[in-house]
Amino acid sequence: MMMKCNENAANRYSYIGEVYQDGERARKQALLASMPQTWRDLHTKGYIHIHDLDAYGLTNNCLTFNILADFPYETLKNESVARRIIATFDYLKSLFADIGNEQSGGMALANFDNDIATILSHLGVEFNDGNKEIIAACIRDLIEWCNHTHTRMGQTSYYVSLNIGLAEGEAARFVAYTLVDEFEKAGDLVFKPNIIFKVCRGISRGEGDRNYDLFVKALRCTAKKMIPTYLLCDCKMDKDVDPANLSVMGCRTRVVADLYGENTSIGRGNIDNISINLPRLALESADGNTDNAEVRLAHFQEKWDEVASAVKDILLDRFQKVCARTPADFPINASHNLWAVPFDNVADVFKHGTLSLGFIGLSEAMEIITGKRFYQDPATYVMALGFVKHMREFCDFLRNQYHLNFSLLATSGELISGRFVEIDRTLYTGYGAIFDKGFYTNSFHVNVDSDLPAYRKIQMEGLFHEYCNGGCITYVELGEAPIGNDEGLREYVECAVENGVHYLGFNFPKDVCDDCGTAGIFDECPICGSKRITRIRRVSGYLEVLDGFTTGKKNEERTRKPN
Ligand SMILES: [Zn+2]
Repeated sequence: MMMKCNENAANRYSYIGEVYQDGERARKQALLASMPQTWRDLHTKGYIHIHDLDAYGLTNNCLTFNILADFPYETLKNESVARRIIATFDYLKSLFADIGNEQSGGMALANFDNDIATILSHLGVEFNDGNKEIIAACIRDLIEWCNHTHTRMGQTSYYVSLNIGLAEGEAARFVAYTLVDEFEKAGDLVFKPNIIFKVCRGISRGEGDRNYDLFVKALRCTAKKMIPTYLLCDCKMDKDVDPANLSVMGCRTRVVADLYGENTSIGRGNIDNISINLPRLALESADGNTDNAEVRLAHFQEKWDEVASAVKDILLDRFQKVCARTPADFPINASHNLWAVPFDNVADVFKHGTLSLGFIGLSEAMEIITGKRFYQDPATYVMALGFVKHMREFCDFLRNQYHLNFSLLATSGELISGRFVEIDRTLYTGYGAIFDKGFYTNSFHVNVDSDLPAYRKIQMEGLFHEYCNGGCITYVELGEAPIGNDEGLREYVECAVENGVHYLGFNFPKDVCDDCGTAGIFDECPICGSKRITRIRRVSGYLEVLDGFTTGKKNEERTRKPN
């Protein structure tokens, strides 16, 4: 079935969307105006980016639903079996819509397959052929809903991430298989929700594991659609955590360690995050200074410490303001108890969340300091690793100092990759090689035009993962859809696990003919000759239509070379 979904998240045309947009702009300005001058300057002058500024002091960022704790079984017990199945999925959709408007960011289920099976079993739904048909129809409908519902903030779709792969029992395995299968069959213009497959030794990773067939199915789908991405439960940083407790948001946010409870993603989320523009600090440390890389690095690190200390103050201020709100300000959370603890006292709930310090442009920063790209020069690589370790140690220090879950986030591009470079190029000259591409490289990634073989890229980036406990991802960039080569993809997954990568994705350019649905890489459809082409790309975690990208993201996409 061909489904049209040319509306993309960046299009804003509903009446509510326009009103929201005006309000968002006004609120951001008022907030900046009310801040201490130093904080305002850091943001407006491009040293840092305060994400979701319009939500400052009002709400949290994201949440992995604690879906089983308070599921409304009672309300469904007198319904027909078919109605119980349909109502289960309707309940999920209404949560996505309601929570999606009560917080600023993404929503996830840590174990979509097992959770749906558990709920249906509690509802007394037998797992027979007739019910399987209804479940499959509901999953198909959920996929369509994620692609076509643009009511978030009156204008955009919902950031939904469904983690699967640990399925126990026939029903859960059917849910996992059907989710991937329906997503694959839905065609190339359907690219939501984000599906994350958990690769785990003894469960899904090796031949003979009960869900190895699901892993192969997932890889075949990825080869066509870039989704699923892969959560590598056996990697160094996650191997000691119960895989059932692991989950990621499509944007890469990772929430695991908790000062106030067990290590789990379930019922927890990020409260706020701020990203630091590393190239700016490198430019300042190099400006008028010696050519000595060690001296520059020392200046760079001092500047980072100074900015990071202010970032900490802003994160804490925002956290305290959010915590000063009441459960009545979060009516959906308060009535559905999706967090790890009952939603009685906002501060007691949100202390389980994370406060994240993010960063962008490690590669450019190191190139400014040493004149070399870190993946081409061992000494620069050691310097880069040491600096990321330094950032993590500061987050750990804050964690102990303030008894809050501070974490280090390897920020995805979002809109800042272009915003920072546009400001920096007005302040500094002589850095054409750094500025001309029009964006800064995502977090600790090697440059997108590195030409490194994929396994080398994985080795290079893998060592950074364990420091970035607030979330990170490594992408393998492929020149075209690797259809039929799921074994090749599986080898990359293995290589990634062994090299410390905790979350892995595959990217390739994908053009889809609006008229006949043919997919490939082209400006004109090779089958029907149409020039009406939708370009689907992944730049900051979620797949989007290229026209909706910000300039920085578009520039990055244009610069990419396959690994
Ligand atoms: Zn065509």
